[in-house]
Amino acid sequence: MKRERPIVAIDGPVGAGKSTIARRVAAEIGFSYLNTGAMYRAVALAAQAAGLTPDRDGIEPQLEPLLHSITIEFAGDRLILNGREVTGELSRPEIGELASRLSTLRIVRDRMRDLQRAAGGRGGVVMEGRDIGSAIFPDAEFKFFLDAEVQVRARRRYEELRAKNVIINFDEVLEQLRQRDNRDSARALAPLIKAPDAMVVDSTDLTIDQVVKQVVKLIKARTEA
Ligand code: C5P
Repeated sequence: MKRERPIVAIDGPVGAGKSTIARRVAAEIGFSYLNTGAMYRAVALAAQAAGLTPDRDGIEPQLEPLLHSITIEFAGDRLILNGREVTGELSRPEIGELASRLSTLRIVRDRMRDLQRAAGGRGGVVMEGRDIGSAIFPDAEFKFFLDAEVQVRARRRYEELRAKNVIINFDEVLEQLRQRDNRDSARALAPLIKAPDAMVVDSTDLTIDQVVKQVVKLIKARTEA
């Protein structure tokens, strides 16, 4: 597929601020925004509804028809799964956990890769995830790896969940975040890693505004040169 405009890949661990930053960067440069984590979460919701969880042996053959029949559509910030809006359900901590476990399976990653390449292949998109710069679009024109200290990430995640009325305590958030990061980084297939040519942006001591400014400036410096 011929690429008409650049692809901006933003990868990083849980709570690094990827969603907020990717969405704002996309708005500032006039690109569309694709949250690939939400796609994995949508698969988790569909699998849960079908009674398919990774601790059951041999779920791959049953996951295959599900993966090929589900429809995932974005309408602005809303995600429509099989024709039903599920945005609120996606942020549930157990769905993030299930998404992380399902995302270790080849059958799931292969399907997500195909959908993500089809959705972003023409460019003009800011894609956010774990493996965009390393595996989905290794030839992306811009690659950022967003990171921050673990305590800071857990605090942000905690506040985000509280704002969504999820009842949880900080230590639980920190523990879940550590577990999810470990699993995402240790998995055999497309693990969470910084692509060698990605630019690291550490947001520990930066505000969202400062990070957005920094990223937009770097993109504009190269596209408008
Ligand atoms: O970004 P978010 O926390 O919503 O992602 C949920 C889970 O989906 C992650 O913990 C990760 O296991 C998986 N994921 C992935 N590759 C991506 C995006 C998300 O494996 N590109």
